[in-house]
Amino acid sequence: MTTFDRRTLLKTGVVLAGGAAVMTAFPGVASAYSWPSSLRSGSTGAAVKELQIRVAGWAADGPKQTCVAVDGDFGPGTAAALTRFQVANHLPATGIADSDDFAALNALESADGSTAHFEFGEFTSKDGSGFDGGKVGAATVKENVRRLMYKLEALRLKAGGRAITISSGFRSIAHNQSVGGASNSMHLYGVAADIYVSGLSTRQVYVLAEACGFSGLERYTLSDAHQHVDSRVEYPYGSQSWWWESGTIS
Ligand code: ZN
Repeated sequence: MTTFDRRTLLKTGVVLAGGAAVMTAFPGVASAYSWPSSLRSGSTGAAVKELQIRVAGWAADGPKQTCVAVDGDFGPGTAAALTRFQVANHLPATGIADSDDFAALNALESADGSTAHFEFGEFTSKDGSGFDGGKVGAATVKENVRRLMYKLEALRLKAGGRAITISSGFRSIAHNQSVGGASNSMHLYGVAADIYVSGLSTRQVYVLAEACGFSGLERYTLSDAHQHVDSRVEYPYGSQSWWWESGTIS
């Protein structure tokens, strides 16, 4: 298909299947983030920061302890992550964000600021306290969860579009104590999730997560097999040291 066709399809959510027009779910496109005409190396500001949030899950090609800095400064790391996003989404691999890329990014955004395949309600504390009662305020937790969602969207695509189930997202201090969580758990800030990926082992999920900019990884393999992912080095909440429990595996 031509570039124009693709852009039109992404904006309208209309795809042709067997000659018939079919509406697909791209919730929130109408109210999606308003981007400039393009962003490239040397660009700075709020839109660059938003771009960095949205391509953060494309931090590496394979197992590598690196993440995209969310600093509003479009440098080589941002360009490389954007290029990986473009390749994965069948867009020209330019490292420059233009209207086609912004359409693809906005197709991942829901009207309430969550992402296409995740809801804020999946990440709220299981004791019913929503995003309250943690170690930072609810608004900060919600923003941290939003950033986490974009990394998880990347992981989901790398997993071939398999569904990701969130078994634990944000935890209030009280709930974290009741489940025996660490006293400075990244779950208390909304920067961590415990996940299952349909059809994949925790080892396979771990390997995929190694390329998504996650700085905290732990496989739980006994009675409750899930994968813990977090972004500890990007926030001033913990040690800022990378912590991959199984080291680098591939
Ligand atoms: Zn966890």
